[in-house]
Amino acid sequence: MNYTTVVIGGGPAGMMAAGIAAERGHRVAILERNRVYGRKLLITGKGRCNITNATDIENHIANLFPQGKFLYSALYVFSPSALMNWLEERGVKLKVERGQRVFPVDDDAHSIRNALVEFMKKNGVELKPSNRVLECKKKGDFFSVFTEREEIRTENLILATGGSSYPQTGSTGDGYNWARNFAHKVKNPEPGLVPLRVKEEILSQAAGLILKNVELKLRDKRGKILFSELGEVEITENGFSGALALSASLFVKSGQEFSLELDLKPGLEREQLDRRLQRDLENKSKENLRGILGGLLPRDLIIPFEKITGMDPEKPAHQMTREERQVMGNKLKNLFFFVVGKKDWSEAIITMGGVKCEEIVPATMESKFVPGLFFAGELINIHGFTGGYNLQAAFSTGFLAGENC
Ligand SMILES: Cc1cc2nc3c(=O)[nH]c(=O)nc-3n(C[C@H](O)[C@H](O)[C@H](O)COP(=O)(O)OP(=O)(O)OC[C@H]3O[C@@H](n4cnc5c(N)ncnc54)[C@H](O)[C@@H]3O)c2cc1C
Repeated sequence: MNYTTVVIGGGPAGMMAAGIAAERGHRVAILERNRVYGRKLLITGKGRCNITNATDIENHIANLFPQGKFLYSALYVFSPSALMNWLEERGVKLKVERGQRVFPVDDDAHSIRNALVEFMKKNGVELKPSNRVLECKKKGDFFSVFTEREEIRTENLILATGGSSYPQTGSTGDGYNWARNFAHKVKNPEPGLVPLRVKEEILSQAAGLILKNVELKLRDKRGKILFSELGEVEITENGFSGALALSASLFVKSGQEFSLELDLKPGLEREQLDRRLQRDLENKSKENLRGILGGLLPRDLIIPFEKITGMDPEKPAHQMTREERQVMGNKLKNLFFFVVGKKDWSEAIITMGGVKCEEIVPATMESKFVPGLFFAGELINIHGFTGGYNLQAAFSTGFLAGENC
């Protein structure tokens, strides 16, 4: 069977690309290894799907790495507001939440997935689910795509197979090898937006505890701050998860050394905190140090914190020395950990790495070497913070590939 355009990968990028190409009159097939389309899309935003971020294009570019600017054209042609209008026109009502995160009003990712599948069907895209692609090659002016079941010929080929994260959803990095076979360079994929592992085991007994309103700093081995933000972390068995740790993971490269610092009292300068401690010690002079810590920290963190500072929990408050008070203050402002790595692919929300942007035409998503070959979505070496930036990037690149193939 011959097609004008074949899309490999039925995620958000591939579905958008297929529907747009078909809308332009192409004969399109979309090959997906799973029985259902958009399996990963269905688990985004804890099943609620944070579809985009209702901010301007500059903000999207600033939240995408390593070169958000590569997406300038894609985000202009199919902007966050264009995506929102596109969905609303197809009956998906949207709402904007904290941090300008956009979700469907019914809090159900199925609404987004179903709108995309309907869009493809309406434009006559041939859906080919449960059809894993094994290989693709270019012979003359045509691409040959070999699946578990058939060989398909096409003039244009759009690779939208996603990254390697959450492989249980079907994204197992298959597209990287095909891109390499087409002479494209691939930046080594690494797990991103993933919990961090630290050397110190001291907090493990507080696993599950969520610390709100703390500051997390990530430094490289020379002490340079790579990431610093206020927000929420979750303590895990061997490190940290939660929004701050996931974001910091985008700067952690395997094989390099990093350290992590937590400020448990970011609202207070060191001197202010010292005055507060002095006041507490005076007002509660009959209590012991554990009692004093009770007013400063969540219950589950008290015993680990006593171990970190080496303080005697039974010591009466009035006996605490100035030095001991300063150690306490320093640790509250700066808990230090060595980062020893990240959790693996099964817990990574996105992939860092992929087909290098330099070898893709930013205005079309076409390969600079192979005419008719296009890339879309997470397969490309672009990744962003949480907040809807990754899905917007997938939709915008898919749209551009579908428009230009
Ligand atoms: C738990 C979780 C939560 C997330 N939440 C959000 C969020 O709220 N907001 C946000 O912006 N981003 C979120 N993301 C990231 C977002 O899901 C991805 O960036 C996005 O899905 C990438 O889209 P894609 O189409 O490029 O790839 P994918 O969604 O990975 O789709 C690729 C498709 O290709 C198929 N495929 C792969 N190989 C083959 C093959 N050989 N043959 C046929 N088909 C193949 C796969 O089965 C898959 O369906 C989340 C990710 C995870 C894991």
